[in-house]
Amino acid sequence: MRSRSRKRFGDLFPAPPPDPTECPDCGSQRILRICYGLPGPEMRERALQGEIVLGGCIFRTPRWCCKECLHHWPEDPPSGQLHGTEEWREKYVAEQAAEYAQLSQDASGPPLAGEPSVANYWERSDGRKVFLVRFEWGVMRVEKQLHLLAHGGTPVYTIVAGFPPLEVGFHGASYLGSLAAMRFETRRVA
Ligand SMILES: [Zn+2]
Repeated sequence: MRSRSRKRFGDLFPAPPPDPTECPDCGSQRILRICYGLPGPEMRERALQGEIVLGGCIFRTPRWCCKECLHHWPEDPPSGQLHGTEEWREKYVAEQAAEYAQLSQDASGPPLAGEPSVANYWERSDGRKVFLVRFEWGVMRVEKQLHLLAHGGTPVYTIVAGFPPLEVGFHGASYLGSLAAMRFETRRVA
């Protein structure tokens, strides 16, 4: 009797998938669990020791993080959709295209002072291109994403992980990161 009810309990709560042993993006085994919620002393200590990553108080989909390439997974499936009114969508697509055109122009000029370099690059099976951009303060993961193409737009360089210290400022760093990625890509094709 007891074993039967146990079995039912097991059916209701299937065992979670086993912990991954390597990053699905780069194959590195240096992966960490992302822990959400307000950290207690023990969690904070483990994060300081580099055993886990604190994900903040808002629960999100990624459970794992790669120390090598900064990939966070599992990912939310790409929606391929733009929200908002049609007017807003057109404006957004046009803004991104203008930004892309400006970046292309800047990338054809000489390197800027303090411009970072691309330390690693690969193309994912879903078409996204990954650039690990090395700054003096650390590494930023820049991805060239194609979700706006369906809307008649351009690719978009997005900073997906590796945020600069406050004194550096996100805006400037994200511009330099995108610029380095585009310059690297242009040179590769040439
Ligand atoms: Zn990785």
